[in-house]
This record gives sequence, structure tokens and C-alpha cells, in this order.
Amino acid sequence: MNIRVGMGYDVHQLETGRPFFLGGVELPGAPKGAVGHSDADVLIHAICDALLGAANLRDIGFHFANTDNRWKGMDSKFFLREVTRMIHERGWKVVNVDCTLCLEKPKVNPHIPAMKKSLAPLMDITEEEVSIKATTTETLGYVGREEGVNAMAVVLIAKT
Ligand code: MG
Repeated sequence: MNIRVGMGYDVHQLETGRPFFLGGVELPGAPKGAVGHSDADVLIHAICDALLGAANLRDIGFHFANTDNRWKGMDSKFFLREVTRMIHERGWKVVNVDCTLCLEKPKVNPHIPAMKKSLAPLMDITEEEVSIKATTTETLGYVGREEGVNAMAVVLIAKT
């Protein structure tokens, strides 16, 4: 088959006084930021898992374990670049990515163009091929209580 689909999902806790990295950009003035071993960019992690899943290459934790000091505080853009390299090595290219971010605050819509601009070149695609949507849970659950954030991603890859 010359095309394959992959899906990814990730969750991170939110904590006051941390920088909030999302989609490769730091959200200015965010009261809370995501907690993690790396920079905790939940959107990038979901995209990495979607790409790895499409190519049947396990998951982000398999390649970049959260117990490995090499990845402590790591800029997640590095992971996406590496995952894209793995995909390319096996004769695949990324066709498009569609994501949903789920968080209560802050409103991320104003930052979506910057996220697309940051993410597209890491996957060797154009901004037009990166879709990012945002939603809330209408105050329900851990997202609604602003305790955490999650992201979902679906990607299509094709044989080069
Ligand atoms: Mg993660």
C-alpha cells in the first residue's frame, strides 16, 4: 500500500508558573504550563506518535524514554525532526496532519498560525498541510478544571 494513516494522543498535567510550550511555540503570558520530562509539548508528542504509528515504528516513549537524561528539558521540535527523519529513511513522506488541542485556557486560536509555521518545516510539508484545531471540554473533567491538556493528531503518509 502506498499510503498509511496514523493517530496519536497525549496528555500532560498543567502547573502554575511553568512555561507553556504548545505546537513548537511558547504561549506568552500563560498562567500555567505543561509538566513533563522534556518541554512537555503535548501537541508535538501527539503528532510524533501519529507519524510513528503510520509507519509502524512504535511510539515516542519507545524512542525517547522519559527516564533518559538526554531528553530532560528537551525542545520537542527535536523529536518531531527525528521522527520525520525516521519516516523519510523508510521511504515515506508526510502528506498532511490534522490535530485537535483540548484545553480550557488560554485561548490558543491566536497562536495557531505561529504553531503551523513552526511545525510544517520540521515535517518537510507546507503550513497548508498542517491543520490545528482547538476545543475545550466545557469545564468538564481534568481539562475543564485546568489540571491538564491533551492533544490528538491524525496523519497521512505516502511512499516517495
Ligand atoms: Mg508527552
